[in-house]
Amino acid sequence: MNNPNQASGAYPAQGGVMTSSPSINSTLSVDSAATVNENNDSAKYFFQEKYAPLNVKGNFLTLCACPKNVELGEWLAHQIVEQYRLLHGMLQVIQEVNSVTGLPICNESTCPTMSAGRLTYTWLVDGRAAKISAPKFINRVEKWIVSKIHDPVMFPTDPVTGVPRTAVSDAANGDDWIGKTSGFPQTFYKDCQGIMKQMFRCYAHLYHGHWLDPFWHINRHEMLNMSFVHFVTVAKYYKLVADKEMEPMQPLIDLFIKQEKIPPEAIAGHWAQQQQQQPQSTA
Ligand SMILES: [Zn+2]
Repeated sequence: MNNPNQASGAYPAQGGVMTSSPSINSTLSVDSAATVNENNDSAKYFFQEKYAPLNVKGNFLTLCACPKNVELGEWLAHQIVEQYRLLHGMLQVIQEVNSVTGLPICNESTCPTMSAGRLTYTWLVDGRAAKISAPKFINRVEKWIVSKIHDPVMFPTDPVTGVPRTAVSDAANGDDWIGKTSGFPQTFYKDCQGIMKQMFRCYAHLYHGHWLDPFWHINRHEMLNMSFVHFVTVAKYYKLVADKEMEPMQPLIDLFIKQEKIPPEAIAGHWAQQQQQQPQSTA
């Protein structure tokens, strides 16, 4: 794990050292899969506005808003696959092998635990929460997500096509769920939430463990920001990651919300927007 206090001269020049985020210090809540480290973080450059540019302009909502003629479950499946593709590209940066040490950038000694600042994520091993190294954790997450995406039950490869996506709802029977008409299982939305939660944890480690080295050093931090803004926009819009889970990255998320890089519509959410539109949709 990089300790910002030990780096000298490698940091982006700036005056003063930012103390760790108040929102992390004071309101950190810990679930069964996360523990708080003793060490305090300091100088989180990636939480500062001047280090938070993106390499593209545009509104990510246009990429993630569900088109009217597409069933939401089918659309969410597409979003999950796309988010995994983006995350995988960022993870490859820290999995690159250093030609001098022969080790990947994120390895057993740099990252003996899957940490994000003061939080350490644990993995269930034989029914018990175990602290495994970040590279092992990430490897397991990637394998697990790929297996989910390729699971024909969770992500049916042959969705019903050619059938009009009518808004007929079984809600009155209590027998409706997102993705039902496309052949997705009842657990589909929850599965999407589970996948997105693990993806978020990977982003949290990328920032807290590797923002400076390698992302800043090789000038890929803007790409990381772009992927992360896209991810959070989808996560917020479809309520796929709980606010509490996002706390390790809250200062940066707040910054992107303030700048409207994460658009207000994403914060309001997909369903809020539909409710607003319904009374007007007479055309
Ligand atoms: Zn790492």
